[in-house]
Amino acid sequence: MPRYATVYPLVTTRALARPFTYELVDGAAKGAVVSVPLGRSRRRGVVVELVDEPPAGIEPVPIDSVLDELPPVLVDLALWVADYYGSTPGRALELIAPLKRKRRKEQAPPGERQALVDESEAPELTAEQRMALERVTDALEAAGGHFLLYGETGSGKTEVYLQACAASLARGKTAIVLVPEIALTPQTLGRFQARFGDAVALLHSGLTDAERRDERERIARGEAKVVVGARSAIFAPLRDVGVICVDEEHDPSYKQESDPRYDARTVAAKRAALEDAVAIYGSATPRPESWDKLERLELGGRLGGSLPGVRVVDLRREAGYPLSAPLLKELGAIEEQGGKAILLLNRRGVAPALHCRACGTTLRCPLCDVALVLHREGSLRCHHCGHEETAPQACPACGSVELARIGAGTQRLERELANQLPKLVPIRLDADTPQNPEALAAALRRFGETDRAVLLGTQMVAKGHHFSGVSLAAVIDADTALGVPDFRADERTFQLLTQLAGRSGRDAPGRVLIQTFQPDSRPVELAARHDVPRFLTGELERRRELGYPPFRHLVRVLVSGPEPGPVTRALEEVRDGMQGAEILGPAPLFRLRGRHRAQLVAKTDEPRRVAARAGQLLAAAAPAMRKAGLTAVVDVDPQSL
Ligand code: ADP
Ligand code: ZN
Ligand code: ZN
Repeated sequence: MPRYATVYPLVTTRALARPFTYELVDGAAKGAVVSVPLGRSRRRGVVVELVDEPPAGIEPVPIDSVLDELPPVLVDLALWVADYYGSTPGRALELIAPLKRKRRKEQAPPGERQALVDESEAPELTAEQRMALERVTDALEAAGGHFLLYGETGSGKTEVYLQACAASLARGKTAIVLVPEIALTPQTLGRFQARFGDAVALLHSGLTDAERRDERERIARGEAKVVVGARSAIFAPLRDVGVICVDEEHDPSYKQESDPRYDARTVAAKRAALEDAVAIYGSATPRPESWDKLERLELGGRLGGSLPGVRVVDLRREAGYPLSAPLLKELGAIEEQGGKAILLLNRRGVAPALHCRACGTTLRCPLCDVALVLHREGSLRCHHCGHEETAPQACPACGSVELARIGAGTQRLERELANQLPKLVPIRLDADTPQNPEALAAALRRFGETDRAVLLGTQMVAKGHHFSGVSLAAVIDADTALGVPDFRADERTFQLLTQLAGRSGRDAPGRVLIQTFQPDSRPVELAARHDVPRFLTGELERRRELGYPPFRHLVRVLVSGPEPGPVTRALEEVRDGMQGAEILGPAPLFRLRGRHRAQLVAKTDEPRRVAARAGQLLAAAAPAMRKAGLTAVVDVDPQSL
C-alpha cells in the first residue's frame, strides 16, 4: 500500500513549480484536490501520483484534507498540457481544478437562463448521417478514433453530434461538446437540453463561480453526463468520456491566448486518446490540418434548401464603399419588403497592408508569402521574417499610383446606414464587446424577433448562429482579412466568406454579397463558388512548399519591452542559442500598449524540444531581462501571428 502522495501545489510562482511529497490520508488518490501545508501557509494542490517511499532525506508531513476528487486521467492530461505548451504543472493543473467558492445561495442552473429553446424530436437520419454515425459507434466500441465531420452549414452535423452523444450515454459513458465561443453556447445548449434534459451541464469561463461550482457538482455526482461549453469544457470532470464533439473546428478561438496557451482541439485529441474516446471535428470549412490528417465523414449539402448564390462586387469598378450601389440596392429591398440582413465588417485594428485600388494587388513578402505591413516611417515590413523594403510610390504589378491602406472607412458604415436606410434597425455584435453570454443571447434574440433588422459585426456574425429569415449576408471589406500579416490569412478569409454565406437563406432563398478589391484572389473566388476541396488542396500545396503547418509546427517567441533595442537583442540571443530549428526573425511588430514588440518564428518537427530550449534560454536570461523591463512568451502552435 502506498503511504505517500506526490502533490503539485497550485501556485503560479515558477520556483514552487515542482512536486512535493506528503503523507497520505484516507481517500486521497491520484486526482485528489488537497489542502497541504507549504512553507508557512496552506495551499491547494493536486495528487499526481501515489508512492511507497518518500525521496531520500525527506520527512513528509500529512495532507491536511481532501477537497475534491477528479478523474485521474485529467492529471495526465494537465501534465501533458504543461509539457507540450511549455507551461508549469501548477498552472496546467489549475485548468482541471479551478478554485471552488463557498455556496452562498441556491440558484437555478445557468442552463435554464442561457439556453435557446429548440425542438427535441430526433429526425430520421439521412443516409450520409447514418453512415457517419455508424463509423463513430464502431470506433466507440473499439479503441476510439478521430474524425472530420465535413458538411455545409445546415447539412445536419449537430444531429450527428446529438446521436453520437446518445450512443455514448447508451454505453454508460459520457460526452463533451465544444463550441468556439461562449456566445454560441445558448443555441447548442438548447438543442442538447431538448434531447437530454437535465443530463446536460454547461461549462465556460463566463459562468459565475457559484454557477461553475454547481455545474461541476452535478457532473461529479454523475447527474450531468453531457457537458456543453467553450474551450475550458475540455477539462470537464466527467468520468469515462466516450465522445468529444468539436463544433466549428476551424475556429481560432479554440486557442487560449494566455498561459497555458493550449489549443482545445489538440487537447481534445489528447483526451480522446487517453480515454479511448471518439473525437469528432465538425465544420463546413475545415482546417487544412484536419483535411490532411483525419478520416473524413462527409454529409454533403444543405438539408431542405440550397446554398445561396454569391455575388462578388468588384470595388475597383463600383463607387460608394462602404455601401456600394449593389449592396444599397439589396438593403433597400429589405427596407421596403421586410427581411433581415447580416453585414460583416472585418476586425478593427488590423495591421495596415498596402494594396492597389486599380488592380487589387496586395504587397507581400517575397520569402513568406504574407502581406507586408506598413510602418509609420514609410517602410513595409514582414512580421514573420523581418524583411524590410521602402513602400513604393506605384504598384509593382500595374504601375498605378493608387496605392491605399486596406480597411479604411469601415467606421463610416453605421452612419451611412442611418442616413441612407433609416428604416432598418441596426443591431451590433462585436467580438470585442465584453464576453457577456446573456447580453449576447439577448442581442441575438432581438435580431431573431425584429423585422428589417441588420446585424452588424465583426467575425462573430459569421460564426455558427442559426437564424431564420436572413435573406442577405454581405461582407463589407473582404480585403481586410486578406491583408492580415499571417500565413493563415487566406484560410481565414476563405472560412469567413464561406461561413457567412452559410448564414444566409437557411430557410429562404438567400443572397450573399462580397465587396472586394481582389475578386480574383483564390480565397474570394473559391468561396464564391463554395469550392472547399479545391481551396484546401491548393492551400495544402502552398503550405507544403513554404514549410507551414500541418507539414511543420511553428513555435513563436515574443518579447516586449520599453525600448526596441533590448527587445531585438534578447531575441537575437535566443535565436543564436537555438540550433537545429529553422528560425525566422527577429521581426519587429507593432507596439502594443506603448511597449515595443518583436518575434521569432521557428519552423520545426519537434515543437516541444524547440519550446523547451527557448524556455531554458529565456530562463537563463531572466535576471537581465527583468532589469530591462522585458517580458517573453513562448507560444507552441500559435494560431495567429
Ligand atoms: P449543421 O449542424 O450542419 O449546421 P443541423 O444539424 O443544425 O446542421 O441541421 C440543420 C437543420 O436540419 C436543423 O433544423 C435540423 O433539425 C435539421 N435536420 C438535421 N438532420 C435532419 C434529418 N435527418 N432529417 C430532417 N431534418 C434534419
Ligand atoms: Zn496595381
Ligand atoms: Zn517574410
